[in-house]
Amino acid sequence: MPFSDLGLVAELSSAVAAKGYQTPTPIQAQAIPTILEGRDLMGGSQTGTGKTAAFTLPMLQRLSSGQSRPKSPRGLVLTPTRELAAQVGESVATYGKELKLTSAVIFGGVGMNPQVDRLRRGVDILVATPGRLLDHVGQGTLDLSRVEIFVLDEADRMLDMGFIHDIRKVLKLLPARRQNLLFSATYSSEIKELADGILHNPVLVEVARRNTAAELVTQVIHPVAKSEKRTLLSKLIKEGDWSQVLVFTRTKHGANRLAEQLGTDGIPAAAIHGNKSQTARTKALDDFKSNRIRVLVATDVASRGIDIRLLPHVVNFELPNVPEDYVHRIGRTGRAGEEGCACSLVSADERGLLKDIEKVLKRPIPVENIPGFAMCEIDGREDARNTSRGNQGRGRSGGGGGNGGGRRPEGGGGNGGNRPPRSNSGGNRTFSRSRSGSR
Ligand code: AMP
Repeated sequence: MPFSDLGLVAELSSAVAAKGYQTPTPIQAQAIPTILEGRDLMGGSQTGTGKTAAFTLPMLQRLSSGQSRPKSPRGLVLTPTRELAAQVGESVATYGKELKLTSAVIFGGVGMNPQVDRLRRGVDILVATPGRLLDHVGQGTLDLSRVEIFVLDEADRMLDMGFIHDIRKVLKLLPARRQNLLFSATYSSEIKELADGILHNPVLVEVARRNTAAELVTQVIHPVAKSEKRTLLSKLIKEGDWSQVLVFTRTKHGANRLAEQLGTDGIPAAAIHGNKSQTARTKALDDFKSNRIRVLVATDVASRGIDIRLLPHVVNFELPNVPEDYVHRIGRTGRAGEEGCACSLVSADERGLLKDIEKVLKRPIPVENIPGFAMCEIDGREDARNTSRGNQGRGRSGGGGGNGGGRRPEGGGGNGGNRPPRSNSGGNRTFSRSRSGSR
């Protein structure tokens, strides 16, 4: 379906064309006409599917038919993180550049006064994180009683981050008659309950199955002793010539330390997490996007708003404690139709976490032992040192089971085609079967 079939006005069509988008993504094709009709919408869609444009374009179109420069916002987008707020704000400005609408972004960690000045001048669309939004309401610098369209972006993340009370407070400030759009990558019972309280007779649009990892992402596990993780990571990055790598750690301290250690290994890296100032986070992200640094080490919270097109590599340096975070993490790669590769460095103590993740994915993740690094066993899986002689390539040829489980369906179970080349891996690479069928 071409963009021209979606019913967008000329100003928005040309903004889309200027971005170089050829065809709408599935979420855009389904959501845009629905939102233009004024219906409430529940979007089951991960970051990377083009969901921002899916709600921003029709919101701009609907609001452009009303009065501009109002006293208070007519469109409100709530996001869980500052980075995501900034990105959505950027999308609103970019897509709406030929319209007369105005927009602003407000989030915490920066001064209130410039935001107060901006709000005083009047905005049509406000993109905000919940805490700072409520600060403005509390001090009388923001009135939400004229909101016509309310968007709750990454609602699952909002709940994970403990924003439920803030969301409820915001809802009380909105007029009863409004259009509501709620987006979430996962559907928990809490999300359903929240959606029931917000949406009226919503159209459900789902482009990724519930708790399903992005289809275009090639996933792999590299078993490794905990103490060897950093050496393995440096080796993968250097020998694979990976240029833009997003690495996840579980803790802020771990993120800082790893970024420093990678620097020592000659790989320029920066850490991004909640304890960093907004300026430091923005700088790290800019440096990463413009290839001044090769690796961005992030914690889960910091990662949510990161939007980098064509991000080729995501590495789980440590598996997340919450299995759904794995899905969010790997959603950073393979964005909007591009392929990505997500690898996890898994040590013996993470077996339980891996089990939980595979339960959520409903499939095993293929294992690839890197010679010299394989740890003895993950969850009953064989050691490469035991399998390298007799079973080499067992997972590759598939034989109906070994390696295909976590691969893209169109990958045909083959391994090499989807993976970026790694110089040392040729004939030496050993694959142990990811599962013996016992679980
Ligand atoms: P999002 O899911 O909104 O974070 O978008 C993910 C990425 O896909 C962003 O970098 C967008 O610029 C890009 N994108 C959005 N819509 C399209 C489209 N129709 N065609 C190609 N890329 C798109």
